[in-house]
Amino acid sequence: GAANTRGPVTAQAVAATTRVRVLLPLPLGAAYDYRVPSGMAVAPGCFVVVPLGGREVAGVVWDGAADPALQDARLRDIRGVLDAPPMTETLRRFVDWVAAYTLSPPGAVLRMAMSTPSALEARAPQAGWRSTAARPEGPRITPPRARVLALLADGAPRAGGEIAREAGVAPAVLRGMADAGLLEPALLPRPAHFTRPDAAHPGPVLGAEQDNAAAALRLAAGRRAFGVTLLTGVTGSGKTEVYFEAIAATLAQGRQALVLLPEIALSTQWLDRFAARFGAAPALWHSELTSRTRRETWRAVAEGEAPVLVGARSALFLPFPDLGLIVVDEEHETAFKQEEGVVYHARDMAVVRARLCSAACVLASATPSLESSVNAQTGRYAALHLPARHGGAALPSVSLVDMRATPPERGRFISPPLVQAVTDTLARGEQAMLFLNRRGYAPMTLCRSCGHRLRCPNCTAWLVEHRAARRLQCHHCGHVEGIPEACPECGTPHSTVPIGPGVERVLEEASAIWPDARRLVMASDTIPGPAAAAAAAKSIQDRAVDLVIGTQIVAKGWHFPHLTLVGVVDADLGLAGGDLRAAERTFQLLHQVAGRAGREERPGRVLLQSFAPEHPVMQALVADDLEAFMAAEADARRPGHWPPFGRLAALIVSAEEERAADRIARDLGLAAPGGDGVEVLGPAPAPLAILRGRHRRRLLLKTRRDIAVQPLLEAWLAKVSVPGNVRVQVDVDPVGF
Ligand code: ADP
Ligand code: ZN
Repeated sequence: GAANTRGPVTAQAVAATTRVRVLLPLPLGAAYDYRVPSGMAVAPGCFVVVPLGGREVAGVVWDGAADPALQDARLRDIRGVLDAPPMTETLRRFVDWVAAYTLSPPGAVLRMAMSTPSALEARAPQAGWRSTAARPEGPRITPPRARVLALLADGAPRAGGEIAREAGVAPAVLRGMADAGLLEPALLPRPAHFTRPDAAHPGPVLGAEQDNAAAALRLAAGRRAFGVTLLTGVTGSGKTEVYFEAIAATLAQGRQALVLLPEIALSTQWLDRFAARFGAAPALWHSELTSRTRRETWRAVAEGEAPVLVGARSALFLPFPDLGLIVVDEEHETAFKQEEGVVYHARDMAVVRARLCSAACVLASATPSLESSVNAQTGRYAALHLPARHGGAALPSVSLVDMRATPPERGRFISPPLVQAVTDTLARGEQAMLFLNRRGYAPMTLCRSCGHRLRCPNCTAWLVEHRAARRLQCHHCGHVEGIPEACPECGTPHSTVPIGPGVERVLEEASAIWPDARRLVMASDTIPGPAAAAAAAKSIQDRAVDLVIGTQIVAKGWHFPHLTLVGVVDADLGLAGGDLRAAERTFQLLHQVAGRAGREERPGRVLLQSFAPEHPVMQALVADDLEAFMAAEADARRPGHWPPFGRLAALIVSAEEERAADRIARDLGLAAPGGDGVEVLGPAPAPLAILRGRHRRRLLLKTRRDIAVQPLLEAWLAKVSVPGNVRVQVDVDPVGF
C-alpha cells in the first residue's frame, strides 16, 4: 500500500498536518497528540522521537485526527523523524485489532511490533573488539581473559557488550586486554543481508498425495487474497515439504512468507529441511537472539530483505512490507498462546494478520485443534489431508498396558510388559523412547514420619525434586531450595521421601534394568538451547544412543529413523483436573509422541501405561481414530456452548493480600453481565490459587458464539473500581482452565 513507500510529502500536506497523534510503545492508553514543527514532514506510520515527561521516546505517528480542542500551547513538538521504513497501514490496523480483541492498551501491542525501541537505533557502524593477529608474549592470560580470547578465536570482531556477557567478564577486562595488546578495536560488519531462498532450488521429489496438496497450496498462495487452509495428515506424512511449496509460490510473487513454529529452539531438523529445499537458511526470530541480531533482523524484515522468516509467536508483529503467506505449524500447540502482558493466541492472530494483508494462511497439524477442525468442517477454512506416511512407512501400532493388571514392582514405574518390549527392541539393535511429561526426579516430597509435603512458599504447588542438581524447585515461579536434612515440620532427620516419578527417576530405573544401554535424557533442563537440541538429535540419528528418556520436548516433530518403540510411562497424566481441553490435549500430545515410532522401514510400536485403559482418549489412541475422538469432543462441548461453539473470556483477579483479591472478585461477581446467552461462572480460586505470592481468583464469562465478549467485558470492568494493589487480567479465549 501507499503507506510503505516514502514518497515526498507535499507542502500542502505538511501545512495541513500540524498536529498528529503518536502512539508510544508503552502500556499507557491510546495515542497522544504532538505538534509537528514547521519544515518536518510526517505521515501515519513514520517512526518519530517525542518528549514524554523528562525523557524522549520513539513512537509511531498513528492514524486519526488529533484533538482540536487541545490548546496549541499545551502540545509538545515532535523532536525528530527516525530513519526507518514507516510502519505499514496493515500492521497499524493489526496493532489496533489485537489491542481491541485482547482488551490491551494499543501501546502494549505496539511495543511487540517495535520489538525493542533499540531496533530503531541509527545504523552507524558499531565499534567492537577483535583479538590481535599476533598475540604478545608478556601479558598474563587469566581465566577471564582466556574466555574472551576463546570467544574471539575466529578473528571476527564482536560487540563489547556481547563479549562481556557471553564470557562473563566486566567491560573493564576488555579495556585492560586492549591496553595489554591482546585486543584491538574493530568496526563490526554491517548487518548481514539475508540470503534469498531460491524457490527454483531442486528439493525432494514429492509423492502423489503431497503433490496434489502442494498444487492446492500453490494456488491458494498465488491468489493474492486472504484464505485459510487447514493442512492435516498423519505423523510423518510430509506436511512440511507440502507447505514449502506454498512458500515457493509466495517467493515467486516477490512477497514474504512467515512460518510460526511452537518451539523454534528445537527446530534444527526443520531448518535442515528448509535449506535442502531452498538452498539457503531463513531468517530467525525468537527470544534467545542477541539484541544486535534482533535489531538487524527487524531492519532486514522492514526493508524487505528477509523473504522468509521463521519464528516464535512474537514474529507475527514484525514489519513485513508485503506479507503473502503465514504458516502456523503444529497449530494445535498451546505454546502459541502468550499468557503474560498482551494475552493473545498467535494462531488466531495469524489468521487476522493474513486477512489484513490479503495473504494466504496455512495451519498445519497431525492433530488439529477442535477450533480449526470445526472451521474446516463448516467450510470457513479449506481442508487438505495427507492420508499416508511418506515413503510408505506404516503407522505405529498402539496398545495399552493396564497398570492395574500388570503393575510395576513396588517403587518402580516401568511395568513388566514395557520392560519386555524395551528389552526386545534393544536386542534387535533398534532404539526405544520412554516418555514422561514431567521434569525432575519426583513431583512431590513427603515426610515419612509426619506426612508433611514440601510446598513452594510462593505458589499453590509442590516442590519438585531435581536430584542431579541436588535441589527442590517450583516449576511455576522458579523458587529453588536445598533438599532438607530433616523434615521442616516435625524435625525428623532424613525422613523425606520422593513420591511419584519424573524423568530423572525413570532414568534411574532404566539404568538399573538396562545398564548397558546408552541413555539420553531430553528435557528442557538437559536440552537448554538449539545447540544442545541439534547435538541430541544427531546422536540419536547416528545411533550413538539406544534409549531416549524425555519430557514433551521429545514429542515435537522429530524424525528418528531407527526409533521403533515408544513407551508412555504415565498416559493418564494430563487427564486429571477440570480443564476443558484436558482430553483434547492429552490425545494430541500422546498422538504426537506415538508418531515418533517407526518412521522408516521398520514398523513402530507404542505402549501406553494407563490406570484407566477404558478412557475414551486411550481408546481413540489405540484405534487411531482422530475423527471419532474429535466428533465425541465436539458433542461434549456443543450443548453447553463451550468453545469453539461459544465464546469464553477469563478475568484473573490477583493481589498479595488474599482479602483484597477476594473483595474485588466478589465485586466483579456482583457486577457480572447477564442476559440471554450470557453466563458468568465464579468467582472461584484460579487453577493456581497462589502464584508468585499473589492470591488469584477467577471469573469466567461464557457467551453464545454470536455475542461479542469485548463490549461486555468493557462495560463490566467499568463498573468496578480496582485499587492499585489488585490486578485484573483479561484473557479472551483462555486455553488452560
Ligand atoms: P509430518 O510433519 O507430516 O509429520 P514430515 O514433514 O516430518 O512429516 O516428514 C516426514 C519425513 O519424511 C521427514 O524426514 C521428511 O524429510 C521426509 N519427507 C517428506 N516428504 C518427502 C519427500 N517428498 N521426499 C523425501 N523425503 C520426504
Ligand atoms: Zn512457586
